Amino acid sequence: MTEKNKIIIIGCGVSGLTCGVKLLENDFKVEIIASKLPPHTTSNIAPAYWYPYRVYPEEKVLKWGEISFAEYTKLSKQNGTGISFMKLFKLFDKKVPKPYWTKLVRNFREAKQSELPKNYSYGFIVEIPQIETPVYLKYLYDRFIESGGKITKLEEELTSLEQLYPENKIIINCTGLGSYKLCSDKNMFPIRGQLVRTSNPGIDYIYNDEEGPLSMTYIVPRSKDCILGGTAQENNWDLEVDYKTSDKIISNSKILAPKLKDAKILDHKVGLRPGRTEVRLEAAKVSNNCTVIHNYGHGGAGFTLSWGCAEDVLNLVKTIN
Ligand SMILES: Cc1cc2nc3c(=O)[nH]c(=O)nc-3n(C[C@H](O)[C@H](O)[C@H](O)COP(=O)(O)OP(=O)(O)OC[C@H]3O[C@@H](n4cnc5c(N)ncnc54)[C@H](O)[C@@H]3O)c2cc1C
Repeated sequence: MTEKNKIIIIGCGVSGLTCGVKLLENDFKVEIIASKLPPHTTSNIAPAYWYPYRVYPEEKVLKWGEISFAEYTKLSKQNGTGISFMKLFKLFDKKVPKPYWTKLVRNFREAKQSELPKNYSYGFIVEIPQIETPVYLKYLYDRFIESGGKITKLEEELTSLEQLYPENKIIINCTGLGSYKLCSDKNMFPIRGQLVRTSNPGIDYIYNDEEGPLSMTYIVPRSKDCILGGTAQENNWDLEVDYKTSDKIISNSKILAPKLKDAKILDHKVGLRPGRTEVRLEAAKVSNNCTVIHNYGHGGAGFTLSWGCAEDVLNLVKTIN
């Protein structure tokens, strides 16, 4: 396509911004509209690291995850992106088969007994991209604007997609959990995640116990702080902090990383992961002139899959005349 066609993206989290950058850099004209912009999106709350968590189907997750891993590898070599490689220490109370996604990561090795925290009998260590979300989303936002994109903050959430059909040829729906209402999508559900932000007393591994004695506990060190988690409560829409849960997160985290006994508590947060039976990435022709491309439902892995999904969105856009 040589002429620039304007595309509307709804949503300014990691999915909308990544698709926006991808399309602009392939010579399309793009506007993002959204009710919330960074730093107020769910994407900003995620700690986050490359890790396919509660996201389906496996085969597509592998494809999208691999493309994103490669892109983050490039970004980790540039200053100011918020991307760096870090060791992820996965902990278990028994030996487990290698998870399917480990074929994509760097330097898999089983942990030595001497490295395991108390009460754990198995663990492995891999190297993965760590995504410092406030820095990375600002980087993406700026890259989008510098490439000629426009961003409009809506005063209110859209209540239907139909209102956009008459004036737009291509609409990309990147509304995350917003699609539960916007598309009446009953395959969507929140997965509530509660977090505690602390100072970083020198932690340099991501720790993760998802199935072991302290499940679920994870620790994500960043440049200026540490994020401790957490919960993954399906169908729970509650955005209020539960301080009893925070206490549990803090005490569990100290068992995994005793250095945290010196950490200062800075903040408490709750975010709702956009859970779905599987990621919805497809084009739907909704009128003679308008096609909607849906790209939402990335569960606990919106960052892990973002560049792979954006590539599929671009390929779908290219098929529309
Ligand atoms: C606690 C927690 C930990 C996580 N950890 C990780 C991790 O380690 N790795 C990882 O890859 N992922 C992680 N995730 C998941 C990741 O954050 C999400 O998958 C991702 O943020 C989804 O991005 P999105 O752009 O699709 O949606 P969002 O970030 O929710 O953005 C949605 C956008 O759509 C807009 N919108 C929604 N509805 C409407 C409407 N009706 N009208 C107008 N605008 C609308 C919103 O305003 C917003 O701009 C975590 C999430 C949580 C909560």
